Amino acid sequence: MTTPPPVAADLDRVAGAVLADPAGTLLATDFDGVLAPIVADPEAATADPAAMAALVRVSGLVGRVVVITGRPVRTAVRLGALAGRPGLERLTVLGQYGVERWDAETDTYDIPPAPAVMTELEARLPAVLSEHGWPDAKLEHKGRALAVHTRQLADPRRAFDELSGPVTALAEGLGLHTEPGKLVLEVRAPGMDKGIALRRVLAEAGARVVVYAGDDLGDVPAFQVVREWHANEGRGIAVFSGPGEGEPLPALTDLADVVVDGTVGIAAWLDALADRLEAG
Ligand SMILES: [Mg+2]
Repeated sequence: MTTPPPVAADLDRVAGAVLADPAGTLLATDFDGVLAPIVADPEAATADPAAMAALVRVSGLVGRVVVITGRPVRTAVRLGALAGRPGLERLTVLGQYGVERWDAETDTYDIPPAPAVMTELEARLPAVLSEHGWPDAKLEHKGRALAVHTRQLADPRRAFDELSGPVTALAEGLGLHTEPGKLVLEVRAPGMDKGIALRRVLAEAGARVVVYAGDDLGDVPAFQVVREWHANEGRGIAVFSGPGEGEPLPALTDLADVVVDGTVGIAAWLDALADRLEAG
C-alpha cells in the first residue's frame, strides 16, 4: 500500500480547512500518549494539565470534541478527570476503540457486556506467558479486552518480541484480534477499531473537517480515515504525537500531516490552533 508523503508541520498550511470552518470541525484525540504521558503503570496515567488546558480552549472554538481510546470508557473518564471539567461540557469519550461511550452533557455511560470468549482468554493466557518464560508480564483486564504489558519486565523489548507470536496465536484460536502497541499486546474482540469509531462520530456530528491526534498503532485506522478527508481539499489533519520511546512508528509518521513531540507538543499545537481560531 502506498501512502502520501507527510505534510510539513506548518499550522497555517495544514489547518486552513479548520480555520475556514471551525463550527464544522470535529477534533478527535486519543488519550494515552497524546493527552496523558505514557507511564510504566497504566493505572497511574494522568492527563497532562497543559494538554488538557489546550483541549479546553479548542473545545470552545470548534464544533465538536471527542476522545477515542482503547481504555475502558470509565477508566479514561476517571484518569482524565473529565467529568464535570469546565469547558468540556459537550465532550464525548469513546472507550474500547469505540464500543463504549460516555457523554459529558448527560453524564451517561453506554457500556455493552463483554463477549464470553474473554473469560476463556483470561483462563488460558497465564499458561502461555509462563510457557514462554515471562510469567510476570502484567495483565490489564479491560472487560472487552485484555492487555499484556511487558514494560515492567527485566527486558521489556525481548519479552514483547517473545510473547507476540504465542499471544497472537492464542487470540486467533479464540477468534480474537491482537493489537500490538508500545510494549503492550492487546487482545480484543474484532469488529471495531478507531477508524470505524471516527467515521461514526463524524457522521453523527455532521462534521465537514476532522482533526485526529494519536500516538500508537491502534490509531492507524483513524489516521487512514483522516487521509481520505485530507485528500478532499485538506479537510483532514492527522497529528502524530511522537516519536516516543523505542522504535519509530513509520505507519503513523507516513500518514501524519503533523508530527509533534508527545504530550507537550500536542499542548503547544492545540494552543497555536486556538490562537489562530481566536484571531479569526
Ligand atoms: Mg495512545
